[in-house]
Amino acid sequence: MSQYWSPVVAGLSPYVPGEQPKLQNLIKLNTNENPYPPSPRALQAIREAADEALKRYPDPASDALRQAVAATHGVSVGEVFVGNGSDEVLAHAFQAFFKHDGRPLLFPDISYSFYPVYCGLYQIEFHRVALQDDFSLRVDDYLPQAQRTAGGIILPNPNAPTGRALPLGEIERLVAGNPQCVVLIDEAYVDFGAQSAASLVSRYPNLLVVQTLSKSRSLAGLRVGFAIGHPALIEGLNRVKDSFNSYPIDRLAQAGAIAALQDSAYFEQTCRAVIATRERMTASLVEQGFEVLPSAANFVFARHPGHDAATLAAQLRERSIIVRHFRQPRIDQFLRISIGTDDESQALIAALNTILGA
Ligand SMILES: *Cc1c(COP(=O)(O)O)cnc(C)c1O
Repeated sequence: MSQYWSPVVAGLSPYVPGEQPKLQNLIKLNTNENPYPPSPRALQAIREAADEALKRYPDPASDALRQAVAATHGVSVGEVFVGNGSDEVLAHAFQAFFKHDGRPLLFPDISYSFYPVYCGLYQIEFHRVALQDDFSLRVDDYLPQAQRTAGGIILPNPNAPTGRALPLGEIERLVAGNPQCVVLIDEAYVDFGAQSAASLVSRYPNLLVVQTLSKSRSLAGLRVGFAIGHPALIEGLNRVKDSFNSYPIDRLAQAGAIAALQDSAYFEQTCRAVIATRERMTASLVEQGFEVLPSAANFVFARHPGHDAATLAAQLRERSIIVRHFRQPRIDQFLRISIGTDDESQALIAALNTILGA
């Protein structure tokens, strides 16, 4: 606390990212990174971009990268915005679309914990909508009601940290039922088993789809995310971006991201591997007595009826395995476990066998 801070800063409760431990040899299953390396073509492109041209600013509009995103998703370049990680894209979207006096932003009570943080930063009114007891989302809860019309809606699909996905038809019902506001679908994990809403963008001017290269493209360290939406929404995002930082994506990131998007064979192969490991790990956890929510993501959300989640997380840590535990109402008996390689997930299962057997 300091007298020099602006009042809004004194009132912030910043997001707390999952631990990035300095220790080597940990099995790191706590922040949903991809266990596989980035595409070799992406690494090669980054090396090739590390030359004298770095003395120049990068393309402020990231045209070639937006072109690559557009080609990957079958949209036009004017429907694409890119940012320094999807967290930055989300932040700009909150500022651009979600601040409407008297009309709150809606999001699920169990969801990405960055959303309320952006609301604090931009002073956006919000309302948390409770998920069902099984953590599924009911679209009807988000449709305009006599007492409440949303000024914006945001949800991850698949949801984080539950892993549950909504089918595309339900997303469309949500978007079509709220033409008065932007509906933002945060598709950070969509490539691991859900359906993208990007195909709906041409029909719904209020839909914004946000994705990242951090999870399914193994590039969390490069910081590239993007949004797909109607050109008028993209223009809104560009107005915010160009009032904040003209060059959010550096030359190396633009080169690496383009090559990663173009290497679809590698992408599909690593996604398939993660999904296969998820299915095997889920079966093993169920055998051990865990309740595991159905996951369409690169993590599972699981609880054991006979064992406290915080204790389990601590016991795993003693065995050099880190998973994520949220001290939060409704989910404090769950562990969120990222999908690692097969070896890593077998090590987790073996450690749990020891802990549960003791
Ligand atoms: C990981 C994640 C993001 C952020 O991804 P970056 O592109 O690395 O900033 C956004 N939304 C959700 C739900 C995530 O889990």
